[in-house]
Amino acid sequence: MKTLKDFEKDLSKCSKCGQCQIACPIYKLTHNECTVSRGKFMMLHGVTQGELKFSKKINSYLDMCLKCGKCSQYCPAGIDVIEIFNHAKHDYMKNTLSGKIINFLQSRLIFSNIINIGKLLFNPKRNIISDNQSEKKLKLMYFKGCVNQIIPNTDKYLKKIFNNSDIEVLTPDFDCCGLPFLSEGNLERFEQTAKYNIEKLNCNYDYIVTDCASCEDTLLSYNKYFKCNISADKLLNWGDIIASKNIKFKFDKPLKVTFHKPCHLHNDFFFEHIINNCSNIEYIKMDDYDECCGLAGSFTIKNRKLSKELSKNKALNIQKTNADYVITSCPACILGLKQGLKMIKNKKTKVISLLEFLSKAEIENSK
Ligand code: SF4
Ligand code: SF4
Repeated sequence: MKTLKDFEKDLSKCSKCGQCQIACPIYKLTHNECTVSRGKFMMLHGVTQGELKFSKKINSYLDMCLKCGKCSQYCPAGIDVIEIFNHAKHDYMKNTLSGKIINFLQSRLIFSNIINIGKLLFNPKRNIISDNQSEKKLKLMYFKGCVNQIIPNTDKYLKKIFNNSDIEVLTPDFDCCGLPFLSEGNLERFEQTAKYNIEKLNCNYDYIVTDCASCEDTLLSYNKYFKCNISADKLLNWGDIIASKNIKFKFDKPLKVTFHKPCHLHNDFFFEHIINNCSNIEYIKMDDYDECCGLAGSFTIKNRKLSKELSKNKALNIQKTNADYVITSCPACILGLKQGLKMIKNKKTKVISLLEFLSKAEIENSK
């Protein structure tokens, strides 16, 4: 397994140009150099050179990151910022008591059983979207992710949307995508979960589909850590499938909607395509529609003030649209959006997943 030392070359590629400051949602709030990749790289470089001790303070700056990857998109040196942060975190956490406790709590025995208990309590039936799969043509591997395994009704929404459609949906028992482990620097557990999922994907299918942007991004990151054949052209959002099928949705009353693009959603072209196929729906694009909702996994626990500030800014942009619904494609973002709307006491706009929203309509054509 790589260590921070292995990334010395990448750290020295940073030209200190400061482009990452323009992109980083956290730097925009803090104006603190230590919270953006350039500053973090300077600290980590100091650590690899033996000039700085890898302290609790440096670790807290590593935690002050949404893992949104926006800095990497702007970085002219093409540095994979998140991969470096994850390995740095691993180096630090493996020698601390809190790291050992987190590793224990994230062990397969504890973590998987929490998810299994959640499934039994809230979603006991394993639904299959189509009962007659033999004649179906497009074979889809549904990677649900932990939260969607627990949330009841996701299968019900899919069943309604794709009723009579020519798809076959496979739902093997995947493990967590691994993002919670990766973010805590628990690379051993990440490797365990990723290899388990890769093994499950070792079969015949046309596409992997998710309705969780974070799962999508994490599955795509497996290639950086292990040899596997998960590629961007094989991994789709349910929105992509719905858009490609040109399904028509008829809503019984006029509604205004807006869309929040999760940081980890790679492509959102499907959204406007789907909305154009919805009758009675007016789409109002909000300002900064792709800016973070403020949740970002354990970021919201470790950085409450920043998390709330991001959620509030997001909610103010939602409020300006006067929408009845804010639609998104990530269960974690749903919580971040609700956090913000609650803060500004907005009772009008409901937060909803794309699948739940579409399932409220009369489906006119699902071939
Ligand atoms: S990943 Fe996002 S939050 Fe973290 S440093 Fe880069 S831009 Fe900032
Ligand atoms: S954009 Fe890239 S090269 Fe420029 S300062 Fe940030 S990390 Fe360094």
